[in-house]
Amino acid sequence: MREFSGDHRFLSINTATLRKQADLVGIIDACARAEIPAISPWRDQVAAVGLDRAARAVKDAGLALSGYCRGGMFSADPERLAEARDDNRRALDEAVTLGAPCLVLVVGGLPQFSRPGSRPSRDIAAARAMVEDGIGALLDYARGAQMPLAIEPLHPVYAADRACVNTLAHALDLCDRLDPDRRGGLGIALDVYHVWWDPELSAQIARAGADRLLAYHVCDWLVPTRDLLNDRGMMGDGVIALRQIRSEVEAAGYQGFVEVEIFSEDWWGQPMNQVLETCIARYRSVV
Ligand code: ZN
Repeated sequence: MREFSGDHRFLSINTATLRKQADLVGIIDACARAEIPAISPWRDQVAAVGLDRAARAVKDAGLALSGYCRGGMFSADPERLAEARDDNRRALDEAVTLGAPCLVLVVGGLPQFSRPGSRPSRDIAAARAMVEDGIGALLDYARGAQMPLAIEPLHPVYAADRACVNTLAHALDLCDRLDPDRRGGLGIALDVYHVWWDPELSAQIARAGADRLLAYHVCDWLVPTRDLLNDRGMMGDGVIALRQIRSEVEAAGYQGFVEVEIFSEDWWGQPMNQVLETCIARYRSVV
């Protein structure tokens, strides 16, 4: 297991962690000043400053990327599937322009939430089938662009509105069906917030192996959790066995960045440098 106490050379900051403090260029500057080597930006933050300016700022700051957030939301009314496809292709093209190592996929839940305006449905099995079709179609395009796709399973509380792929096993089953020969270009983003509770977690991490583990996201699970979306904890403030999970991820062969992704009204209310200093300190001491 890699030693993290002496420096933070494998730390990445998911830029949603600082979305209320600054725009993307400001976040890039702050990360560069803190000698944080990588970020993972969100599409809306890139769009707000412009794709070319964002790509230039990343390059000028000498930052690497640990992912691009996000594609997905594949489930939609049939007449809107083309819209979902085109939107995902744009996301993938942006990831290429930015030099991301993968496009993270939040796959979508029921169509009316995944693509608002779609007709109400209670058929989660149908949504899951659309997700599988959507990823399969995008995979061909992604391989052409040499941009890997990282399916991020989300905690089951988000099954209706954000992602109906909710366990690592489910995500890896999709990978195995869509990429049976392990040609590459398809894997998972493991976010501890979503999967820490899963009794199959250790076995599924081992099953994934290095070629399917494309990204590793950390934060913590607070008890009580006051908001299902925006009350994630700083590493060390909650109940997730971060060291244990990282040891398993690394034993499976993962050697990439550890990306801090915290959606939190509390942390959005703190000065940006203080948040980054805390991320660095916790990365060294508890991640
Ligand atoms: Zn994540």
